[in-house]
Amino acid sequence: MKNIYDLTIEELEEYFLNNNEKKFKALQIYSWIYGKRIKSFDEMTDMKKGLIEKIKKDFKIDYLKIVKVERDKEVNKYLFELDDGTHIESVLMKHDYGKSICISSQVGCNMGCKFCESGRLKKVRDLMSYEMVLQILEVEKDINERISHVVIMGIGEPFDNYKNVTNFIKIINHPKGLAIGSRHITVSTSGVVPKILEFSNFPYQVNLAISLHAPNDKIRDRLMPINKAYKIKDIMDALKTYYKKTNRRITFEYIMLDGINDTEECAQELCRLLKGFNCYINLIPYNETNNMEFKRSKNDRILKFYDIIKKNNVSVTIRREFGSNISAACGQLRSKKEEL
Ligand code: SAH
Ligand code: SF4
Repeated sequence: MKNIYDLTIEELEEYFLNNNEKKFKALQIYSWIYGKRIKSFDEMTDMKKGLIEKIKKDFKIDYLKIVKVERDKEVNKYLFELDDGTHIESVLMKHDYGKSICISSQVGCNMGCKFCESGRLKKVRDLMSYEMVLQILEVEKDINERISHVVIMGIGEPFDNYKNVTNFIKIINHPKGLAIGSRHITVSTSGVVPKILEFSNFPYQVNLAISLHAPNDKIRDRLMPINKAYKIKDIMDALKTYYKKTNRRITFEYIMLDGINDTEECAQELCRLLKGFNCYINLIPYNETNNMEFKRSKNDRILKFYDIIKKNNVSVTIRREFGSNISAACGQLRSKKEEL
């Protein structure tokens, strides 16, 4: 049986048409589940009893199970248990402009990046769209507030779960769904080139972030196994196509790893690579984990790196460090749990 939160408005309309009902019923259901946040289909007072019984036979309306929450002033971290006993996590960040949530797209990740906690635990399965939608609904329920921004940067490679992730975006963007503006949604990928190309035809104005983390293939090969399949040049070519079609500025994420990718030469090389491209670079102080050999770059290195990029007239920011004291880096909470 499908979970109701898995359906796009088009899929729900099709369901009603197939059952000889008017398609506007789809919008009605959306208003109940996303507007009024009902917990049982019986609460839909504007639908006939018979139709409610039919819907109850066809769909579940269950939420996920939160098994652990770590709370801090600026960030909450949630560990969820799914129906099959697997675990995922979401991170809520409290900004002055609103609340943003970082959601997971898979249970584990197959990309195996050397610095990443999620990559240490192999992919068990893709998340269904409803399991992504419900991460948002559950957290909104917990804080009793609306979330304004969504980043798909938790556990998993979203472009390895393309269909469910794009359906998820359609659901949360819909005005009668969660109505989260497309410009407030960001997908981050390690560089799955065919999917970047496919994404350039996705008709929603969402933001794309690329986890680059190195200015050349030699360093990137060492950090990210996916670079063996798709080289930096392949990614840049795909991004040129993406940019031509969407005209949207691209974000490059760059984790600062002590002694590995944080030298002045690296900064210069990065600028040569990205110069003239409509993009900005997000420098991410590495969140150190217990199991990894990597260290966070020292602050003066990060600032020096930042200055060089700035002087080259490439847009750059340093990411604020959220919740490094409550294991908020990608995959850390789940990884602790799986080790218990
Ligand atoms: N798989 C996708 C999205 C999830 S990872 C991707 O790789 O883009 C989201 C971001 O968190 C990536 O840029 C990833 O490199 C980064 N990341 C992973 N582990 C981290 C850590 N310990 N500290 C800081 N950033 C980390
Ligand atoms: Fe997967 Fe992203 Fe972690 Fe790499 S950084 S292992 S792609 S979650």
